[in-house]
Amino acid sequence: MSQGLVSAAYIVAALLFILSLAGLSKQQTAEKGCYAGMAGMAIALVATILHPTVEGTAFIIIAMLIGGGIGWQMAKKVEMTQMPELVAILHSFVGLAAVLVGFNSYLDHGVLVGAMKNIHLVEVFLGIFIGSVTFTGSIVAFAKLRGLVSSTALMLPHRHKMNLAALIVSAWLLVSFVQQGGGLLPLIVMTLIALVFGYHLVASIGGADMPVVVSMLNSYSGWAAAAAGFMLNNDLLIVTGALVGSSGAILSYIMCKAMNRSFFSVIAGGFGNDALVSNGDEETGVHFPTTAEEVADLLLNSTRVIITPGYGMAVAQAQYPVHEITQKLRDKGIDVRFGIHPVAGRLPGHMNVLLAEAKVPYDIVLEMDEINDDFSDTDTVLVIGANDTVNPAAKEPGSPIAGMPILEVWHAKNVIVFKRGMATGYAGVQNPLFFKENTKMLFGDAKESVENILKAM
Ligand code: NDP
Repeated sequence: MSQGLVSAAYIVAALLFILSLAGLSKQQTAEKGCYAGMAGMAIALVATILHPTVEGTAFIIIAMLIGGGIGWQMAKKVEMTQMPELVAILHSFVGLAAVLVGFNSYLDHGVLVGAMKNIHLVEVFLGIFIGSVTFTGSIVAFAKLRGLVSSTALMLPHRHKMNLAALIVSAWLLVSFVQQGGGLLPLIVMTLIALVFGYHLVASIGGADMPVVVSMLNSYSGWAAAAAGFMLNNDLLIVTGALVGSSGAILSYIMCKAMNRSFFSVIAGGFGNDALVSNGDEETGVHFPTTAEEVADLLLNSTRVIITPGYGMAVAQAQYPVHEITQKLRDKGIDVRFGIHPVAGRLPGHMNVLLAEAKVPYDIVLEMDEINDDFSDTDTVLVIGANDTVNPAAKEPGSPIAGMPILEVWHAKNVIVFKRGMATGYAGVQNPLFFKENTKMLFGDAKESVENILKAM
């Protein structure tokens, strides 16, 4: 393939990536967005393999077949609830790739002199730095999302000073690396510092802020890919990396606003959260259990019902019977709507996807801001597998989830909470909602509970 044709293919691929991002911004066009992205990636891969300077095509194809096969199997097996952890581990691969490309480019490059040599050294240094931070940060995010380590924030003494020291020392190492004309020692020391820095940055962020961390790592992985693009002289990788990096940064900013968090605080590893007390998972009152029959009766005697789903609905796959109950109540003239918290579940838009999958009409699915004032006018709220997103502890200063906007379900006449026991939510904070007088607990798997209510109706 000639260089001109490769460049033309890269432009088409870049346009398809932009179309893909535009499509993914709305639920109705998301599927088309995915196809545009896949087509762009296929064109990019073919053009790169057929690039005139590329050698060893057979090895590349064998590696792609092995990698593609593993990816195919993983994608087939992964549950919807495991998507964020899969995304996190994939980000770690991008980080690791940037580190390897960086060292490869350091060891094996053409003859460079003067300014070009310095630019190349800076590219190598920054590429390895961003890649290392992304690599270990994403592994910690994966471990937290999978429950391999606690989701609560690691609060080491002087943690912000340590982060700042890591940045200052790395900047000094960069200067020394360039001055020495590319010494291996500063590069290796910086890599070790960046690996620990990435680990610490994500470990110091609490469970409730994990959605922002995932989108932030998405952004870092984009910048790591862009840095690799500079080292490989690949324009498409630079454009794609920049697209992922900037869209990830915008998503992080939007999520910070939705969660009432400071963007700077989250990217700086929880800077400014030191006043927060950790944990608080002990029960703080008496709870009142109920039965499926009682809930069925309550629903049939209600005029307005709101359902607020959370991660537990996804685990139980309760969205289908939830849709059935919705239809049944609406057929009887009862007003049923859904209130969706921006970080309910484990990935942005998680609940919207599940409800759309079960064919719940879009027009009764409302965002938190659209529905929060309506709870006081509501007879019954069904909290199905949600916990942190309906936790009034967010109103208490000093709580790990302080300041996070929540669905204020307790203003309704009756609240029914569907869960299996009295465990805390993802942030590890006990929920005072469970002990309010107008709250009843329906214990058991959410799907079974909803099906039992359907039977009782
Ligand atoms: P939570 O994770 O706070 O709570 C889920 C609740 O569901 C638990 O209390 C659990 O209680 C219950 N549950 C689990 N399985 C079942 C089941 N089979 N049947 C019935 N109940 C079940 O959920 P929320 O959606 O309210 O909050 C999401 C949390 O995740 C937030 O802290 C958010 O910040 C965080 N997060 C969100 C991401 C996103 O992008 N949306 C990404 C990463 C983290 P029990 O065990 O007693 O049944």
